[in-house]
Amino acid sequence: MNKPKYIFVTGGVTSSLGKGIVSASLARLLQAQGLNVSIQKLDPYINVDPGTLNPYEHGECYVTDDGAETDLDLGHYERFLSINTSQKNNITTGKIYQNVIEKERKGEFLGKTVQVIPHITNEIKENIRNLNNKNNLDIIITEIGGTVGDIESLPFLEAVRQVIYEEGPENSMVIHLTLIPYLSATGELKTKPTQHSVKTLMELGLKADVLVCRTEKVLSDEIKKKLALFCNVRFDCVIQSIDVDTIYDVPIKMMDEGLDKVTLEKFKIKESEPNLDKWKNFLHRLKNPAHQINIGLVGKYVELDDSYKSILESLIHAGAENEAKVNVNSIHSEYITKENISKNLRQLDGIIVAPGFGQRGLDGKILAVEYARVNNVPFLGICLGMQMAVIEYARNVKKMRYANSTEISEKCKDPVIDLMISQKEIINKGGTMRLGAWDCKIKKNTKSYKSYKKKLISERHRHRYEFNNNYSDRIFDDKFIIAGSNPDTKLVEIVENIDHPWFVGVQFHPEYKSSVYNPHPIFVNFVKASLKKYLNK
Ligand code: GLN
Repeated sequence: MNKPKYIFVTGGVTSSLGKGIVSASLARLLQAQGLNVSIQKLDPYINVDPGTLNPYEHGECYVTDDGAETDLDLGHYERFLSINTSQKNNITTGKIYQNVIEKERKGEFLGKTVQVIPHITNEIKENIRNLNNKNNLDIIITEIGGTVGDIESLPFLEAVRQVIYEEGPENSMVIHLTLIPYLSATGELKTKPTQHSVKTLMELGLKADVLVCRTEKVLSDEIKKKLALFCNVRFDCVIQSIDVDTIYDVPIKMMDEGLDKVTLEKFKIKESEPNLDKWKNFLHRLKNPAHQINIGLVGKYVELDDSYKSILESLIHAGAENEAKVNVNSIHSEYITKENISKNLRQLDGIIVAPGFGQRGLDGKILAVEYARVNNVPFLGICLGMQMAVIEYARNVKKMRYANSTEISEKCKDPVIDLMISQKEIINKGGTMRLGAWDCKIKKNTKSYKSYKKKLISERHRHRYEFNNNYSDRIFDDKFIIAGSNPDTKLVEIVENIDHPWFVGVQFHPEYKSSVYNPHPIFVNFVKASLKKYLNK
């Protein structure tokens, strides 16, 4: 196939219905047919990227190899598909306008009035097609954030209409994800909100080919028939998406409901036996654990699962690999005190100190590191968590009372964590951290080497501060060591306490690279060590 087929996924009735998961599941099923698939997310908000958004606003900020700060749905795409996404996979209104305004300033539209139609919509269309820049894709899935009817998504939906017009209906399809609410008072499933949202879609010139209906209860054939008739879709294109225990069930459920079948039919692609053995094998391990362990996730955004999405998913992958169910105990670092720490952390088989920014909750994080170090509890410190592991060792073992990060105390006596030189002149906040993939060289005979089983690795980053190498001699010793560093700049990437069953701090974010088919070695080995602790109890 040389010309890609375009699938657009829109949402109706409410947000948070799981468009990302449904898109990723369909992509997984099409991949299982041997097709080359990629997915992108178009976000109608005005921020240029979600990098400047607080996790409470929009969940975790996911980072790609090429250093794009993106929507967390890209994490689902990578975890489901084992593909590498890039900045092309996530476009916002802000980015579109920024590109158009830059072109205008360069004089590219000279003499013309620059308008939403055609200039903004053309830019959107270019970004949709541009996903296939290597010309190797059979299918492009484009997920439109938000719900139809939102003012800010109008230009995106108009651009979708134009792409369908230009590519032809035989080469494009619209999947509308909607909610069928259940009214417990009358014991009924209601279709009217879906009818209205399909009508809104039609007013915009878009016809839904498939309805994916989120529901708590099974949809009867009668309800499906009603939806098909009133929403103008074929009966077999009304796909039920019932609540499931794990998101990793969704591809199988979608296959049972025939979402892949109707998609292949629409594009006249011959259906073959899907290759999902590895996926099913993972699901089997996930659902039949031999053990259960408790991992503490110490952070300051723990009220919201989406804030640490990739860490939680990485633990699921690593748990399945170790045949252990990982119960994550979310522990709010702001509320950890010397007095309550033992009570709060005693039950844990492993402790993760999460990434983060700013002062809030830091004292609790340092107490959690100390607890893990002193009590031999397997420990993984990620980014800020690694920085806190260094500060804890400096303060409590090396007796450097005033050791700190200049992020917290600019004038501290011992800035063991300091702003990177490359960051010193930077004023703008958006997209200016040390982002994306950088190399790290690992020392032999370390837990990291045993995990990765190789010397040179590449991991994704998102930080401004680093270990201050002027303190190397004062902090590191025969117990606390640098286990990995950047081969060119010597930036400390991994620290380990080797006088401990498993104590690893990483400046990078391993959670961005764990997938169903390739669970991340750091998480796999951290969970393995935690399981060992549990079994030795
Ligand atoms: N705030 C720290 C820094 O910028 C850590 C960042 C993080 O945890 N992602 O270096």
